[in-house]
Formats: sequence, structure tokens, C-alpha cells
Amino acid sequence: MRILLASGNAKKLRELRLVLAGVDVELATPDSIGGLPDVVEDRPDFRGNAAKKAVSAASHARMWALADDSGLEVDALGGAPGVFSARFAGKHGDDAANNRLLLERLAHVPDGERGARFVCALALARPDASLALEVTGTARGTILREPRGTHDFGYDPLFLFTEPGFEQTGRGFAELDAFAKAAVSHRGRALRDLAAKLPLLLRAGPGTRAAR
Ligand code: IMP
Repeated sequence: MRILLASGNAKKLRELRLVLAGVDVELATPDSIGGLPDVVEDRPDFRGNAAKKAVSAASHARMWALADDSGLEVDALGGAPGVFSARFAGKHGDDAANNRLLLERLAHVPDGERGARFVCALALARPDASLALEVTGTARGTILREPRGTHDFGYDPLFLFTEPGFEQTGRGFAELDAFAKAAVSHRGRALRDLAAKLPLLLRAGPGTRAAR
């Protein structure tokens, strides 16, 4: 089975490849098929945007396509930036500006009220552009007062992982290497869920929707 990873974000692609390395699928990138049309991410939730991107990519490339939509939900901001995570400060993908704005918005929020979670929705579409599978993963933490760590991607330098009982508990996401992050991250969790469901989906054949 050949799956097109419908993302142009190199850091995301690296994380997707890492977790799917153990699964018996061949992965293709948008570059390898001459690029993908832009998709307007206008759905109110991560799941809707991931589905829209997967269906658009599958319909364009006529192959299985996997899309991800992800972001950060901060309790004290009522779930913002949410689906606007990549363009929180205006320009799409300006991580430094997004992080500065997040720190500004939380400047007066006390330590005990800085809870947040990362969310990753994944959608897999068939070559006929029908939706085959949707999964979601989350990771819970708090927002730091200053950046920590060097493995930076998006809001990682400001995110302290706080779920109890893990080796990574109490570490910033940007302090973790790719493997340690993928073991507990929203994207790693969603991908492992997807990888576990893929064999059933393939056995079930076209037209059947795998159990969520
Ligand atoms: P998307 O490309 O629309 O999914 O935008 C996702 C945005 O959410 C990124 O630009 C990052 O700002 C943020 N984000 C998603 N996942 C992560 C992560 O694992 N670490 C840090 N930031 C993330």
C-alpha cells in the first residue's frame, strides 16, 4: 500500500515518517508527485480540516492520502489558538511570532492556570477520495513562561508535558528528541492508533470504514 503524506511541513513529515517506519506501507511526499493544490483550512475543528486535506489530496493524486491537522488549545484562552495555531499572530507558520503572542496573552495568568493540550487529528482517504479512517491524539501540559530546549517546532519550546507516569513528565517538548517526543505526543499517539487500525482497514477492503 502506498500512502501520500499530504503535508508540506518538513518537521511534521519527519514525525509522521518516524512513527510509520514500522508499518508495512510505502510513503510518498507531495514533492514526489509534483506538489498538491492548496486547501483552505476553514473547518471549525482539527478533524474537519484533516478530512478536507486528505480528501483533496487523494482526489488530486488518485492514491491513498494521509493528512494531519493539529494545534494547541490553551485552557485560559478558551481553547485558542486551536485551529488558528499556525497563524495565531497573523502570518502562517511564523513560530517565533506565535510564541511571543502566546507569552503575552498569558503574562498575567498564574502558574496553576496555564494548562493546555496539543491535539492532532489524522484522516486517511482512499484513492477514490472517500474517507476511510479518522483518529485523534492529545497530549496534556502547561505553558512555560520562557522557552526551553532546542528541538523547536511550533509551540514546543513553551510546552511542558505534565501527564503523570511517563519518563517525559516534567520535560519540555523541545527538550525531547524526536523518539522521546513521539512516544507521548499528540501526533505520535494518533499515528499509533492509525497504524493499529490500518491492517483491519486493508482486510476490510474498499468501501468499508474501520472502527474508530
Ligand atoms: P497545521 O499545519 O494547520 O496543522 O498547523 C499546526 C500548527 O500547530 C503548527 O504551525 C504549530 O504552530 C502547532 N503545532 C502542531 N503540532 C505541534 C507540535 O507537535 N509541536 C509544536 N507545535 C505544534
